[in-house]
Order: sequence, then structure tokens, then C-alpha cells
Amino acid sequence: MKIAVYPGSFDPITTGHLDIIHRISRIYDEVIVLVSHTPNKNYLFSTIERFQMVQDCVENFKNVKVETHQGLTIDYLKSKNLNIIVRGLRAVVDFEYEMAMANMNKKLYPEVETILMFSTPDYYYISSRAIKEIARFNGKLDGLIPDNVKPLLIQKLKEVMR
Ligand code: ADP
Repeated sequence: MKIAVYPGSFDPITTGHLDIIHRISRIYDEVIVLVSHTPNKNYLFSTIERFQMVQDCVENFKNVKVETHQGLTIDYLKSKNLNIIVRGLRAVVDFEYEMAMANMNKKLYPEVETILMFSTPDYYYISSRAIKEIARFNGKLDGLIPDNVKPLLIQKLKEVMR
């Protein structure tokens, strides 16, 4: 059984992430979306909130599971005896970061393979960072984030900007 792990912050999950999840789920027997928590990152949503949002978005995908992990992604893979990481690639700017990460992971865990999936052209400009910026200034979010995420994002920004 081929199991792919798609790790990320998903802060919040966007239409671009969902498109990648959907496409990976057609290639692999099972997909684990791994909601990561890295201590030095500044998240808008808590790990459990990010997990819940992703979970709600993928509940209709039969072969997609969501999990959380604190620390290195490869430690998660090792503990579950898995070896495939999928990452999304939007533009050239993503490339260097993803290549360094893939090579570092390979160095630390030689069994691991990182698969990069190109963004669908319609979604290549979508990032969680841009979404938060747009939401902060009441910009239109239609099509950029899943419908269930929109009210949660607006509410969360209200809370943090209070
Ligand atoms: P991280 O903080 O680990 O980069 P993100 O949640 O920002 O996590 O992204 C997780 C993965 O999804 C990364 O590989 C990123 O390049 C990819 N990704 C993000 N947005 C898109 C998009 N619009 N299209 C395709 N891939 C994307």
C-alpha cells in the first residue's frame, strides 16, 4: 500500500492545498495530511484549529486522513514506517526551499522520497500568508479558501486585532 504524507502548516488551509490533496489522493492508496507544529513558527491558528479545519475539508475524501505532529516531519515518518513526502510547488520561489528541505530530509532519513507536485495554474498564486493579508483588509476571499474556513478566519482576525 502506497501512503503519501503531505505536511504543512495549513494556517489556514487554502483552495491550493485542497487541490493538491485531491490530486495526490488519486495517485496514492492513502494520503496523510500532516498538520505540523514547529516551535519557531508564528501561527495564527492553534494546531487543533488547523487540524479541525483540514479535517472538515477532507471528510468526503475516502482515503485521506489528517494528523498533527510537533517537530521534524521525518520523525513522524520514521515512527509510522512511511517514506513518501509530497509537497506542492507553486513557482520558482518555492523551488530552492523545497529542494533544500528534500535534500536535508534525505540526508537525515535516506529511505525518504520527496515528490513535488506542481500547483494547478489557477491556484499557483494562493498562499496562506496572502490569504491572511487579504482577510485582514476585508478583501474578497471567494475561491481562495474553502467555504468553511472563511468565517473562522474572519473571526480569528477579529480576536487577534482586538
Ligand atoms: P509550510 O509552512 O510547511 O510551507 P504550507 O501550509 O504553507 O506549509 O504549505 C504546505 C505545502 O503546500 C508546501 O509544499 C507548499 O509549497 C504547498 N502549497 C501551498 N500553497 C499551495 C498552492 N496554492 N498550490 C500548490 N501547493 C501549495
